[in-house]
Amino acid sequence: MTAGSPTALVWLRRDLRLTDNPAIEFARHHAERVVLAYIHAPDEESPWAPGAASRWWLHHSLTSLQRDLEARGQRLIIRQGPSLAALRALVADTGAQTVVWNRLYEPATIARDKAVKAALRGDGITAESCNGALLFEPWTVQTDQGAPYRVFTPFWKRCMKTLADVGDPTPVPEFGKAPPAGLACLKLDALELLPRIPWDAGFKQAWQPGEAGAHSLVEVLSDSIVARYGETRNRPDLVGTSCLSPHLHFGEISPRQIVAALAPAGHDAASAAGTEAYIRELGWREFAHHLLFHFPATQTEPLDPKFANYRWENSPALLKAWQRGQTGYPIVDAGLRELWHTGWMHNRVRMIVASLLVKNCQVHWLEGARWFWDTLVDADLANNTSGWQWTAGCGADAAPYYRIFNPVLQSERFDPDCRYLRRWVPELKGLPDKWLPRPWEAPDHVLRAAGVELGRTYPRPVVDLRESRDKALAGYADLKRPA
Ligand SMILES: Cc1cc2nc3c(=O)[nH]c(=O)nc-3n(C[C@H](O)[C@H](O)[C@H](O)COP(=O)(O)OP(=O)(O)OC[C@H]3O[C@@H](n4cnc5c(N)ncnc54)[C@H](O)[C@@H]3O)c2cc1C
Repeated sequence: MTAGSPTALVWLRRDLRLTDNPAIEFARHHAERVVLAYIHAPDEESPWAPGAASRWWLHHSLTSLQRDLEARGQRLIIRQGPSLAALRALVADTGAQTVVWNRLYEPATIARDKAVKAALRGDGITAESCNGALLFEPWTVQTDQGAPYRVFTPFWKRCMKTLADVGDPTPVPEFGKAPPAGLACLKLDALELLPRIPWDAGFKQAWQPGEAGAHSLVEVLSDSIVARYGETRNRPDLVGTSCLSPHLHFGEISPRQIVAALAPAGHDAASAAGTEAYIRELGWREFAHHLLFHFPATQTEPLDPKFANYRWENSPALLKAWQRGQTGYPIVDAGLRELWHTGWMHNRVRMIVASLLVKNCQVHWLEGARWFWDTLVDADLANNTSGWQWTAGCGADAAPYYRIFNPVLQSERFDPDCRYLRRWVPELKGLPDKWLPRPWEAPDHVLRAAGVELGRTYPRPVVDLRESRDKALAGYADLKRPA
């Protein structure tokens, strides 16, 4: 403990956990009393203030954190932003001489945090930040020429050389003295995070926001998913992935906690291969953060400047049909309905729906990214931007422009028994497996027997696959021609 500095303030943001939290560790190390505060300041994240599904998650994650703290005789202090003013007020109220937080990596949060750090230091406060979210912070990984990486495989190869150095996760610290009694604290409901129109019924069934929920998913991952992850990760009809993305986004678990939890699973060959494949997926998250940090304009601009002048058609009708899961392509509609009902969509299906919107419908990738932003519980600027730019062909290590997913073939390959389609597009469930992914090609008597009337009970395809593919390829070919 530093003499004369008995209280440290931890500014919690997207690190809503008590275990393996470097900012809390730092505070505990430097002070007798630790005050944990959450300051609500969504405008400071503009233009990517949290969307509706994220706000739902945040409400429940904060509830869970409050409960975990109360069980330890502590409190979470909730205040409204602006962040700097709220931190200064908290410093005055608690007498804290140290303020510490875990770093974020979006352009807006970096700018805000830098300004806050400078201002607090100007006030004579010790202001520090830690890494609580990534295995490898963006500036620690560079090519031999000292540049940021733009291709995943060499990036990850470089990272893997130092994976053993990321350190061991830490347990919940002893908190010591409770925050001063009478410290002003808003009620969580005052933040109005929950939707006014209750579209979140399915979310409650699908998720358990908070640290305990994250740890129970890690248990499922290591007990029953990781050994088969290599085969099942592309199958939306199975529970083949961890569903940890919202927990990771809100920092209810750290990536190194997941890596540590999987280490004992690597004792047989299948589990070792699955663990490697899974950690590589965490690597894509690291890579996405690396890209957003080094190329901050990609939050709205294509990484590949060739695409800046691409002439998108941006049909509002096509965008609306896509958002509503009414495109006439069952795998696409299934994904968008899964998203609406649960706040999540399987990665394979994210790629398929994004490809249809951007390539076949010729709608700007940002329109899709914005819809995901509002509806995903795991909406994450780094991962969302890289996922959309990858699919659009304009990002780093992107899918080549000529790769246009065929939603029918993808459906047949990755949902072979049509279980995913039957779950999310129940109006087609009576169709045989052969026709379900392509109802517009089914003979009339088959449609009739299944009670399907195209254009009435289920839409006809909103675009023709072959025509729209040719058009997209022609558009991309134009990009390559010198002006
Ligand atoms: C168009 C598009 C948009 C996307 N938007 C987001 C988003 O907003 N937020 C988000 O977390 N992921 C996004 N992804 C990546 C990926 O789809 C999700 O991370 C994954 O589906 C989450 O499910 P899971 O936790 O079961 O994944 P698992 O297969 O269990 O993977 C483990 C973890 O690795 C990370 N991860 C896996 N795949 C990727 C990837 N391709 N890129 C970056 N990180 C990855 C995630 O943190 C994930 O939780 C997007 C992908 C696409 C194609």
